[in-house]
Amino acid sequence: MNILEKRELIKNQELTVENNVENFINNINRNNKSINAFLEINTEYALEKSKEISDKIKNKEKIGSLAGLVFGIKANINVEDFTISAASKTLENYIGSYDATVIKKIKQENGIIIGMTNLDEFAAGSSTESSYYGVTENPSAPGRIPGGSSGGSAAAIAGEMCDIAIGSDTGGSIRNLASHCGVIGFKPSYGGVSRQGLLDLSMSLDQIGPLANDSYGIAIALNNLIANDPYDCTSLKWNTPNFLDAKDTVDLKGKKIATIKQFHEVSDEKVNKVVDNSISKIENFGAETVELDFNYIDLTLPTYYLINYVEFFSATRKYGHKIEDVCGEEVLRRIGLGSYISQQEFSEKYYKKALQARSLIRNEINKLLNDVDLIVGPTVPKLPHKIGDKLDPMEMYAYDILTVIANLTGIPAGSIKAGESNGIPVGLQIQSKHQDDYKILETMFVLENNN
Ligand code: GLN
Repeated sequence: MNILEKRELIKNQELTVENNVENFINNINRNNKSINAFLEINTEYALEKSKEISDKIKNKEKIGSLAGLVFGIKANINVEDFTISAASKTLENYIGSYDATVIKKIKQENGIIIGMTNLDEFAAGSSTESSYYGVTENPSAPGRIPGGSSGGSAAAIAGEMCDIAIGSDTGGSIRNLASHCGVIGFKPSYGGVSRQGLLDLSMSLDQIGPLANDSYGIAIALNNLIANDPYDCTSLKWNTPNFLDAKDTVDLKGKKIATIKQFHEVSDEKVNKVVDNSISKIENFGAETVELDFNYIDLTLPTYYLINYVEFFSATRKYGHKIEDVCGEEVLRRIGLGSYISQQEFSEKYYKKALQARSLIRNEINKLLNDVDLIVGPTVPKLPHKIGDKLDPMEMYAYDILTVIANLTGIPAGSIKAGESNGIPVGLQIQSKHQDDYKILETMFVLENNN
């Protein structure tokens, strides 16, 4: 049953809201101890809400478009009365005193928030190993990292612990974990979804987005989450399509889709094999494919990390000096380097160069996207490592080489399961022009409905 079918069953009282919530609570109770997807759940609140919505349905009152669907929220997004720790000791006692704009929307449409999901400390990572509350297990590849930073959100979906999970993506944090856990993750166009109420990692790159087990869940979430917000100065005024309409797309005839030579060159053979297979399927659905060059692949990681350090350093100043005393290694590294690079005398050497490189990358990607509808390729260049393997910072950053491009340029990007390599999921990344999010979803629906 897909999420659209489930929504109909709930509306028609063939599935009760209480039952939907209880099923997830049971799964969480059974598996969360070992998976560690959720840092906190509030079953009492979820059951109380489900009763409220159930009564509305029974009384034939108007219900919202997310009625009875269960949400897990990354613990760096403000939800009233939940712990917004960002998986850091710094904020272990911080209880959300208000709802972020995205949370208000979910609640208005009668979605039910069941709890807060695990992440890398302050979303700074690609494996969820830097969480103060311990790593999350990958339910689809036991013993391996789920990816990060929104690892808990992907594991909650892969482990059937909620219908839709919300993550944040600064350099891949919705997509690399979708790839490693075999689920769908979608980073909308920058400015599409309000960031109000999100704890910033790097505000010019951050974007909130959904994860789900099927494209229906993604479409339903995007319909709800993408909206102008006067409380976010970067929020777009965007006359969006109905993303659910994308489900009726049956083939890819007339679509021009690019693969990028350098994306393949930086990826492992095992990953390329699975992704190439998925690209052949795209061709079989009638798309015309071309291979193009992206000449700035070597600039992407340095550009991304320099900007990330500087913006993160600035964002952390509001927590006071205490943060350096209690935070983990990676957060400390970013604060230290961010502080150094931000000094006036170094700004020409690092930060300004990074901004210039960002323009080059943006212009090049926009140029490529002028000639094609979509760019497809691997989401992550390698398979997820085993929990416990020690990677140095550069090896860890290398996971992000294919995902940071969408954040540096603001374009939308999603990851859908392409297949498996020895039982380990591998994702296909689909990217389009800014505000062409619909085209990505169409392709996802075509791949999913013809699986
Ligand atoms: N792995 C990247 C980083 O460490 C991306 C994190 C994210 O998207 N939040 O910055």
